[in-house]
Amino acid sequence: MADKGRDISVVVVGGSYAGAAAARKIADLSKKGYGGLKVTLVDQRTHYVHAIGFPKALVDDKFASKTFLSFSGFFEPDSKHQFINSRLREVKDAHHLELENGEQLYFDYLVLATGGKAPGPINVSATGKDEGLEEIGRLRAGLEEANSVLVVGGGAVGVEVAGFVAATFPDKKVTLVHSGKRLLPSNFREGVSNGAVAKLGQVGVNVVLNERVDLPADFGHNAHIGRQVLVGSSGAEYESDVQILAVGFKVNSEFLRPLETKIGGLLHIEDGPGFIRVRPTLQLDSDMFPNIFVPGDANNLPMTAKYGFKAEMQGGTAASNIKKMIDSGFDMSFTSSEDSNAIGHVLDIPPLGKWCDLVDAILVPIGPNLGVVQMLKVALGGSGMGNFLVRQLKTKDFMLWLRKGMYPNRPTA
Ligand SMILES: Cc1cc2nc3c(=O)[nH]c(=O)nc-3n(C[C@H](O)[C@H](O)[C@H](O)COP(=O)(O)OP(=O)(O)OC[C@H]3O[C@@H](n4cnc5c(N)ncnc54)[C@H](O)[C@@H]3O)c2cc1C
Repeated sequence: MADKGRDISVVVVGGSYAGAAAARKIADLSKKGYGGLKVTLVDQRTHYVHAIGFPKALVDDKFASKTFLSFSGFFEPDSKHQFINSRLREVKDAHHLELENGEQLYFDYLVLATGGKAPGPINVSATGKDEGLEEIGRLRAGLEEANSVLVVGGGAVGVEVAGFVAATFPDKKVTLVHSGKRLLPSNFREGVSNGAVAKLGQVGVNVVLNERVDLPADFGHNAHIGRQVLVGSSGAEYESDVQILAVGFKVNSEFLRPLETKIGGLLHIEDGPGFIRVRPTLQLDSDMFPNIFVPGDANNLPMTAKYGFKAEMQGGTAASNIKKMIDSGFDMSFTSSEDSNAIGHVLDIPPLGKWCDLVDAILVPIGPNLGVVQMLKVALGGSGMGNFLVRQLKTKDFMLWLRKGMYPNRPTA
């Protein structure tokens, strides 16, 4: 077995669900005999933003403030691991990357956990906490002023946002328009989607199914407060004062383009959201980069895998596979050929774990009191038990408590 204490550099880009899970698991190895291991966590934001809590943060400013956790609290104060607040500009080859602040980083292993973003205001675009809270606050103020609100997209996010807006502002007309024939992802049972329609009705949301709204091409991130008339595929017109888009997800992967040009091949899928191609081991789907892993929303695993809790599980799988490669001594001989700037080449890789999408569960709060659930194939759509379970397991803090454990150095500014 290779010397575990040797110097090894692991860079993790993106400190949200997938990246934080990977960074934590790998950093913890340095307390278990892997003394030369150094983890560098890079994120364009100063704070982790608990996206899962956005539906509640939108209508509750105290809760919104709690959903930002400073990355400065991620590693213990005396740790040799580091956080860098910058944006990944370019992955240069199998061992080097460049950040927007000009720093060049060497890595033996790289985790790209950069996720994606939606065009509408459901993804906070600001990179700092104060600006992020201002952004959410502007939208909340817009909702307070509005007579009517249009939510586009009836996946879990659209359903939760519509439910919380309607329950908080019962005097507003809230409409949820969805292109599919039923709400929520189609891998869940019909009872769950029917329950969601019924419970949205109870809080006053008007649900329109089988209707695709035509969105203007210039519908920018902050262009959603103000009167708009959008037209649906049926020809119906939807007039609203605030529009919230829960559609149009795009992957953050621009930093791979120069490398793709260099190797003369694509590492991502051009159509749709632009997912980065991976193998079941979560390695980049290329023999040239066995040391680069892509867990979470950014990869091309099925849409049924695009959840925070699954991103976190994938971060864990990526970390376990990196540990296996470290144990096998892989990085000691993977020198990216004669020139350290050249692109890498394939070496013996130990058998790695494959990520397996075994769990299908969904908990969808609809305002503070109602909700629908599916767990272990049991659907609780219209029932009171669904409301009870969602309240107990999610609605209170949208599972923020689970994230706080990741930040040993809390509280920080
Ligand atoms: C409103 C909302 C509600 C949701 N509710 C739920 C829910 O209830 N349950 C659930 O399981 N899932 C939910 N999801 C989905 C869940 O949030 C995503 O699946 C999850 O965020 C994906 O995690 P990730 O780590 O892959 O990527 P992300 O969370 O997208 O994180 C990517 C990180 O990378 C950073 N980054 C991106 N590009 C760069 C770059 N070039 N350089 C440096 N840093 C970069 C970003 O700043 C960010 O911190 C919800 C999503 C939204 C938007």
